[in-house]
Amino acid sequence: MNKVAIIGGGAAGLMAAITASLSGAAVDLYEQNSKVGKKILASGNGRCNIINANSSSSDYFGQHSHFADYALSQLPFAEFEKFCLSIGLLLETKGDGRAYPLSNEAKSVVLALETYAKERGITFLTDATVMTVEKTDGQFVITAEKSKKAYPKVLIATGSEAAPQLGGNGDGYAFAKHFGHTIEPT
Ligand SMILES: Cc1cc2nc3c(=O)[nH]c(=O)nc-3n(C[C@H](O)[C@H](O)[C@H](O)COP(=O)(O)OP(=O)(O)OC[C@H]3O[C@@H](n4cnc5c(N)ncnc54)[C@H](O)[C@@H]3O)c2cc1C
Repeated sequence: MNKVAIIGGGAAGLMAAITASLSGAAVDLYEQNSKVGKKILASGNGRCNIINANSSSSDYFGQHSHFADYALSQLPFAEFEKFCLSIGLLLETKGDGRAYPLSNEAKSVVLALETYAKERGITFLTDATVMTVEKTDGQFVITAEKSKKAYPKVLIATGSEAAPQLGGNGDGYAFAKHFGHTIEPT
């Protein structure tokens, strides 16, 4: 079985972990906070405006609209809504397209994603800050606070530097740079 390490347990990391698991991978999710999804809890004034039914790539900043096009085509609104329903998360879409959990509480989103991920056997490593990622013998060696483990694949989902009180930092940029990636200025 493919092993994958996901660094970061925010919205992106949780969805990536679930997606990797659905494609048959054994997933370890590293999160520096004691709980996953802290930024989700703060989103939409605690209600989490989870998606917009009318969004298109023209709504996104940046020079690479094809990335937004690709991402949106991979998970269009209707598919996303279906996925949410399958994990027990009912959505309510307002007249302007903004969608929120029917409960009106962002914690429903975290609970649904976390519960489903755990049901799928994803291992949650919390209080586990990843300090370094090194490539040795074709494997990515992840050194976290209390562990050191090698994986054939690693996905960086550490988010941006926004809202540092919720876990935002530049760690992901440093990991990516270390492997020769270029960081586009935000
Ligand atoms: C106040 C506020 C309101 C918002 N409202 C909305 C909204 O209503 N709708 C919307 O779509 N968006 C909203 N956003 C934006 C949205 O919350 C973010 O775009 C989204 O949560 C980013 O998810 P992410 O997984 O990319 O990053 P994050 O949520 O930042 O997740 C990254 C995770 O990685 C962890 N991490 C970082 N470094 C390490 C490390 N070295 N080792 C282990 N773990 C690490 C962090 O602790 C964090 O949990 C809002 C943002 C804020 C701050």
